[in-house]
Amino acid sequence: MNSADITTVKSILSQPQKIVIVPHRNPDGDAMGSCLALYAFLKEKGQTVHVVAPNDYPKFLKWLPGNDTVINFEKENSQAKERIDQATVIFTLDFNDLSRVGQMETVLQEANADFIMIDHHQQPSDYAKVTYSDVTMSSTCEMVYNFIDFLGETSLIDADIATNLYTGIMTDTGSFKYRSTSSKTHRVVAELIDKGADNMEIHQKVFDTNSPSRLHLLGIALSNMVILPEYRTAYITLSQDELDQYDFKKGDTEGFVNYGLTLEGIIFALIFIENREEGIIKISLRSVGDFSVNEFARAHFNGGGHTNAAGGRSEVSMEETISKFNEILKTYKSKLNP
Ligand code: 5GP
Ligand code: MN
Repeated sequence: MNSADITTVKSILSQPQKIVIVPHRNPDGDAMGSCLALYAFLKEKGQTVHVVAPNDYPKFLKWLPGNDTVINFEKENSQAKERIDQATVIFTLDFNDLSRVGQMETVLQEANADFIMIDHHQQPSDYAKVTYSDVTMSSTCEMVYNFIDFLGETSLIDADIATNLYTGIMTDTGSFKYRSTSSKTHRVVAELIDKGADNMEIHQKVFDTNSPSRLHLLGIALSNMVILPEYRTAYITLSQDELDQYDFKKGDTEGFVNYGLTLEGIIFALIFIENREEGIIKISLRSVGDFSVNEFARAHFNGGGHTNAAGGRSEVSMEETISKFNEILKTYKSKLNP
């Protein structure tokens, strides 16, 4: 964030505002952690604040401090709309294009508020009065820490804020192992532990809450994995019937896509998950090295994200999606074997 933006934000926050904080649809640990951390921070500064999430999020995040205050746009629609309509400032966190909030998009477009974006995805859209975008950042949570630092107010970071920020940094960096994890990330994390984030407890709460049915679903996912060594690619499919058979709950497939990358020589991994209710196949893409899944998802599956982690969707059947994917893959042979 440049100094003009910092001055703008300071001047906005020096007045009482009605603030709404919004994560992307299907919020993950970084999205919820950053929203709830910013929520607690702005509350401490005496602002009127609400977090409005486009839809529900997984149970493994439902313990985050402030979780009970989140308004779900799908379930509490009129309250959510009212908060957005009345807002004077709207923070959008962990996304950079209004299409990422699904049904909430038109409500946000019609809002009269000043938008402030804090995000680390590629190619930000131009909708915010203040855009704090940095694709080199490990996570939006690390950026919210910086944001508080830019305002000169890290002394306001309490255990609740630290816990939320730690959670998002931990989940978005694959527990501090992805390329985006810098020495600065570790310094921020160390600071958060000092401020009261209980690192061991947070790991347990996020990762050690498997249900037997989720582990069985993982078994199915792994046995469905198709490995294409000539393309250094591995992909998994999960049909709605398979999800139903193992009592699928939101978040159950989190992390499944990463197993493909643990195979020696594999640099591109995907998971295709059928969602009959939405009539789509949700796709998660991951890579190691220079192969950009952001570009791949943008070009072929109406998605985007980061170089090494992206998402997208397909509106045709699983069978058609997979055959389309196989056709596309042929054109990437040299890029996947540089
Ligand atoms: P995931 O595969 O975990 O859903 O998402 C991986 C990354 O890609 C995340 O940073 C997420 O925000 C982003 N992403 C997921 N789905 C989409 C999508 O449909 N469009 C765009 N632009 N980004 C996505
Ligand atoms: Mn993120």
